[in-house]
Amino acid sequence: MIKFTHISKKYDNGNYGLKDVSFKIEQGEFVYVVGKSGAGKSTLLKMFNREEMPTSGEILMGNVKISRLKNNQVYKLRRQVGVIRQKDLFLPNRSAYENVEYVLSACDVPKEEWDKRILDAFTTVGMWNFREHRTYELSIGQQKKIAIARAIVTSPPVLIADEATANLDNRSAMDIMKLFNKINRQGMTVVFATHDSTMVNTLRRRTLELSYGNLIRDDRKGGYSATN
Ligand code: ADP
Ligand code: ADP
Repeated sequence: MIKFTHISKKYDNGNYGLKDVSFKIEQGEFVYVVGKSGAGKSTLLKMFNREEMPTSGEILMGNVKISRLKNNQVYKLRRQVGVIRQKDLFLPNRSAYENVEYVLSACDVPKEEWDKRILDAFTTVGMWNFREHRTYELSIGQQKKIAIARAIVTSPPVLIADEATANLDNRSAMDIMKLFNKINRQGMTVVFATHDSTMVNTLRRRTLELSYGNLIRDDRKGGYSATN
């Protein structure tokens, strides 16, 4: 279980990213994080892999206290948490395949396993036939799929995605969303931040809503806003 207990985040300039936020996520859950721009969605996601530290409160992942981890232990946490960022950065002069392979080289996955893992990741996202392309030759939706393959190739138990359907047309966005659902059904916990209300209302899952850093809703039935 992942458990946030009274998490607040005050940035150095005095801004609050989160205010006294508490919730639990069971293994295998799918959770949307919604809210207006500036509500604290990115701040919340950054707590999972300790990209930012909370100012107060405690985060437990299993029985590991994330805020107590020593700096030289944070890499272990990061291996548990696959991340899809809003803007995908790739090694520009390498193929899609090499971009995914690169992640394995930074982990302790035995080299004999690489080919199978990369094949599995590309197959899951449906991009095996594009593996030799440079990422800049691919559409934004295809690049997102490569970013997803890169995030899942190490089989992290938790996948964190920040606005993964931004800048996509409706069809590609739905395509990507279905992919996250499929990955979730295979057992990965997915935490998906978005302001795309159509998506959240179409594929309904548990929804956490933030407003000015406060958690104002935790709705098992989902839907973008309490009023629709
Ligand atoms: P969202 O992802 O929902 O748009 P953010 O988590 O990015 O929201 O931002 C929440 C609040 O924290 C906003 O008021 C934002 O200005 C502030 N904030 C985010 N990152 C920083 C930062 N690095 N320094 C100062 N304030 C920040
Ligand atoms: P249990 O909930 O079965 O008692 P733990 O909470 O001790 O298991 O967690 C065991 C491991 O499972 C943790 O080290 C962590 O890597 C992973 N884990 C915990 N909570 C989650 C979650 N919500 N999603 C995915 N993996 C999780």
